[in-house]
Amino acid sequence: CGIVGYVGEKRAQDVVIEGLRRLEYRGYDSAGIALVATGTIASDKRAGKLANLEKAIADRPLPPATVGIGHTRWATHGAPNDVNAHPHSGAQRRVALVHNGIIENFAELRVGIEADDVALLSETDTEVAAQLLEAEVLTGADLTTAMLRLVNRLEGAFTLVAVDALDPSRVVAARRNSPLVVGIGDGENFLGSDVAAFIEHTREAMELSQDQVVTITRSGVSVRNFDGSSAEGRRYHVDWDLSA
Ligand code: GLU
Repeated sequence: CGIVGYVGEKRAQDVVIEGLRRLEYRGYDSAGIALVATGTIASDKRAGKLANLEKAIADRPLPPATVGIGHTRWATHGAPNDVNAHPHSGAQRRVALVHNGIIENFAELRVGIEADDVALLSETDTEVAAQLLEAEVLTGADLTTAMLRLVNRLEGAFTLVAVDALDPSRVVAARRNSPLVVGIGDGENFLGSDVAAFIEHTREAMELSQDQVVTITRSGVSVRNFDGSSAEGRRYHVDWDLSA
């Protein structure tokens, strides 16, 4: 239901948790976070309030990291429990993925994945996308290319945001009939399901069109259409009064 992505110089855990708190007003049943730390995905996810996730990572701290993603879930496929909470990964935990929306053709994709002897851990439509994304990355594709290949296999409405354990330089997202905004910082960039996710850090935002994939790094933002052609987002200034 709410999504946050960050790459920069700050502690990603703090930016992601703060962003999720700013998105709490949307309502949710579970929350989770994934960070890229020295070649691995470090993650935690819990059913219930964000406070449950915060307590879990206070008890069992995640390693320091400057790239991460977070999610608050409003369950559509699978009960609201810890296993079904996002992020989801493939069997090798090479990628972590969060998702808002519904992947309509997940049942058919799931059959294909299970036919390759991969056991799915959750009941979600999202894990199917995570498994497929990981399979693409394992062929040697960079995360942006892998995301472009993935979205062309998905039907439905979705915002997807992902990280690769072996590429701490970027966060990659995709959007089809579901909200996603980029926050433009100085030496850092953000993704959010709405600007509330990053408004404490920057008021410079970029609007994407539907059917686009965006890659953020510390120093840049690049946008592609689902057909792979390059595109430009529309920059704008967010002039909300935060005290309101
Ligand atoms: N369909 C996904 C799930 O049930 C995502 C739900 C959401 O938008 O939070 O896990």
